[in-house]
Amino acid sequence: MSTQELFPDTAPALPDPSRKAGLHRLKAFQPSMGRHYATKRNFDFGPDDRSNVSGLSPHVRHRLVTEQELVEAALTRHGLEAAEKFIQEACWRTYWKGWLEQRPTVWAEYQAGLRRDLEGLDKDAELRSRYEAAASGRTGIACFDVWTRELVEHGYLHNHARMWFASIWVYTLDLPWRLGADFFLRHLMDGDPASNTLGWRWVCGLQTVGKTYLARASNINKYTDGRFEMQGYDLAREAPPLDPDLVHPAPAPLAPGGRPDPDAPALVLVHDEDGLAEDWGLQGLDIRAVAGLHSLDARSPLEAGVRAKAFTRGALEDGLDRAGEAFGVARRLITAEDLAETARTAGAVQIITQRPHAGPLRDVIAAQASALETAGVRLVELRRDWDRAFHPHSDKGFFKVKKKIPAVLGELGLR
Ligand SMILES: Cc1cc2nc3c(=O)[nH]c(=O)nc-3n(C[C@H](O)[C@H](O)[C@H](O)COP(=O)(O)OP(=O)(O)OC[C@H]3O[C@@H](n4cnc5c(N)ncnc54)[C@H](O)[C@@H]3O)c2cc1C
Repeated sequence: MSTQELFPDTAPALPDPSRKAGLHRLKAFQPSMGRHYATKRNFDFGPDDRSNVSGLSPHVRHRLVTEQELVEAALTRHGLEAAEKFIQEACWRTYWKGWLEQRPTVWAEYQAGLRRDLEGLDKDAELRSRYEAAASGRTGIACFDVWTRELVEHGYLHNHARMWFASIWVYTLDLPWRLGADFFLRHLMDGDPASNTLGWRWVCGLQTVGKTYLARASNINKYTDGRFEMQGYDLAREAPPLDPDLVHPAPAPLAPGGRPDPDAPALVLVHDEDGLAEDWGLQGLDIRAVAGLHSLDARSPLEAGVRAKAFTRGALEDGLDRAGEAFGVARRLITAEDLAETARTAGAVQIITQRPHAGPLRDVIAAQASALETAGVRLVELRRDWDRAFHPHSDKGFFKVKKKIPAVLGELGLR
């Protein structure tokens, strides 16, 4: 049984993948961003009650709503002290992005390792059968099987469930971590190369080297509010680090942001990492057209899940529509191979976009470098002030970023 077959006809409605709906949810959740979030956020009450978390990660992942907007909403309503926990969580996302951005080889190694792990399934029938049982929710571990179905049907899991799931995948089911990370990346509507890869690495001691996360029955029972009655013997009792001697690569320099030529005709490229082109400061430039590109097929050698595909496609259409309207030009969805030709047809000699972070989208766009050069089209990759301010502090552990939050928010004019 494949995971696509797990997807039922009765699946819940897709969250509206638009900026408007994201802002609506932001406003509705704003009163809860203070102490309520700090005390309740770790509870996973199940898919029918997500009142204690924002559920905004699919919108934030596609930058229909920005991290800055999350933090501004929390600050305005509660102030830095009361909203400290929510602001820190929003900054985890920025931190993971900045960390991977400075160590892009970690993403390349993940991809190469994943291909090896998938090939390994073809050579080992017993491993394949255990993998398939996990990926189709038939392990017999009650909570895990419920989360598998929830992930496939909803395209979302609570943060705590992601931690338990990853820990059980690696330490109880003894499955390769990258196959689990790939399962998440293909099915999550917020599937993100940095938060996901590094979140999985963190669970198995590859991120904070030597420190792992062990899912415990008592912790699951407490924080799922009595939905499960797990016993200690159901789960692994130890979580040894997968590579205690691992040394991280030295951080690579961060790219400076590109500058558009104000006199040259331009194509604006929105993509699945940033669907907010009307916010890029391009007003007044000679914009000829808007194109939209997603990297769903590059997330994995396997097919992305129904929810992840639907949300990303919807988010891109929403971004294209808003940008087309803001600049008063035609818009269209393209594939990466169309990039140079789309610019040429529009009469553009520069493509202006937000620089994709290390991950599948970067790979897809980078593969077009020589076609763009041959066509005489310059790629201008902007960087948001938010990333520029936080990423230099994201080269070590999260603690360094956490300490800097008040100062960086000040630099950005948010306090
Ligand atoms: C193994 C594992 C895999 C993960 N994979 C992803 C992923 O692919 N994409 C993804 O966006 N997040 C991922 N996360 C992080 C986190 O689980 C989700 O961001 C969070 O659950 C989203 O739900 P929310 O919007 O209701 O969060 P809230 O609790 O409402 O938090 C507000 C926002 O802060 C950010 N945030 C909160 N917690 C985290 C965190 N731990 N790491 C990074 N950002 C955070 C998100 O943008 C979120 O929308 C992963 C975590 C783990 C442990």
